[in-house]
Amino acid sequence: MFQINENYVKLQGSYLFSTIASKVAAYAAANPRREILRLGIGDVTLPLAPAVIKAMHDAVDEMARQETFRGYAPEHGYDFLREAISRVDYRSRGADVDPDEIFISDGAKSDSGNIGDIFGLQNRIAVCDPVYPVYLDTNVMGGRTGCMNPADGRYEGVIYLPCTEENGFVPQLPEEAPDIIYLCFPNNPTGMTIQKAELQKWVDYALEHGSVIIYDAAYEAYIREDGIAHTIYECAGAKKCAIELRSFSKNAGFTGTRLGFTVVPRELRCGDISLNDLWERRQSTKFNGAPYIVQRAGEAVYSEEGRRQTKEQVDYYMRNAACILDGLKSAGYTVYGGVNAPYIWMKTPGNMTSWEFFDHLLEEAAVVGTPGSGFGPAGEHFFRLTAFGSYENTKAAVERICKL
Ligand code: PLP
Repeated sequence: MFQINENYVKLQGSYLFSTIASKVAAYAAANPRREILRLGIGDVTLPLAPAVIKAMHDAVDEMARQETFRGYAPEHGYDFLREAISRVDYRSRGADVDPDEIFISDGAKSDSGNIGDIFGLQNRIAVCDPVYPVYLDTNVMGGRTGCMNPADGRYEGVIYLPCTEENGFVPQLPEEAPDIIYLCFPNNPTGMTIQKAELQKWVDYALEHGSVIIYDAAYEAYIREDGIAHTIYECAGAKKCAIELRSFSKNAGFTGTRLGFTVVPRELRCGDISLNDLWERRQSTKFNGAPYIVQRAGEAVYSEEGRRQTKEQVDYYMRNAACILDGLKSAGYTVYGGVNAPYIWMKTPGNMTSWEFFDHLLEEAAVVGTPGSGFGPAGEHFFRLTAFGSYENTKAAVERICKL
């Protein structure tokens, strides 16, 4: 008789978005004439930039001709894209990342889960609380955690790094050293980020304790302020202890097109084993490369026109973020994030729980957001609003919240 991977049974049901959907559907049925404004979506809404579309069309035409047709892509990605990334994302920022340290993929979600394949099951992981759930759930699936303790909503064996108002949503260095540390800045869901000098402390800590940092920089394009690292490789020594995940989803609207990459530096070693070699082996065995058409689209993001056009899109979302932030602040709410990220982390008024505030907002203002407690116990009494809608809807939603 076959057996299943028992670790999957330890996973908690992902009720967050399904509960939101059913509550919104019930409200819509009861209030058919009320327009519901959604500030809960984590997906982009603007169409792909013209430079990206042109590159895709050209690549489609290439696929139609015998002389230019392409079959399987290299598992680690085409050199034209790896070289563009190395030049624009890294070398231009003084970070010495070579094309052969860059592995193109179908997105940061898969990579953030798959990266666990190259690490032993006995490693102790640390995650922020609240957190993008993929890091934790994939480690549960892999067997690197115990069961969830219903009393505190935490998995046994995991080191949680609370991100709270008190610490400015930047976790403190843990006393007990983890083997694998997941960090994400700018952060989903808090919308907060970390100063380069603070990030350097994490790198120094990882080097001192023999830990590896898995650094998710999916929202790098939203950084506006100085003093914030755009890549962890701006920190001295990071190539010896950090893997970086990147995505084309939020900087260029590829959520449905699918493209991302992971940097595994050659200097990152465990004894005499290179993690770059292990990841190359993992990808070439389990992955057959991102599509040529999509990689050409990704290359266009790095062209002069592509950079200008995608920046305009990010600016559009950040105008929404400013509208939410300023509007709620002026109405007396306590709000965080939204300056270097498309997420606003709002403290619920009157000590309401995240779900109580969700219901209140839906019933009284027909506005939808995401309860912070859905991202981890430390997210309780917070609420996530996103800047990915249209400006008109964002403005209207803020006006409604301010009138509550
Ligand atoms: N990492 C973080 C922190 C995210 O918030 C998201 C998506 O919301 C992803 C990764 C997923 O990126 P991708 O679309 O490239 O899979």
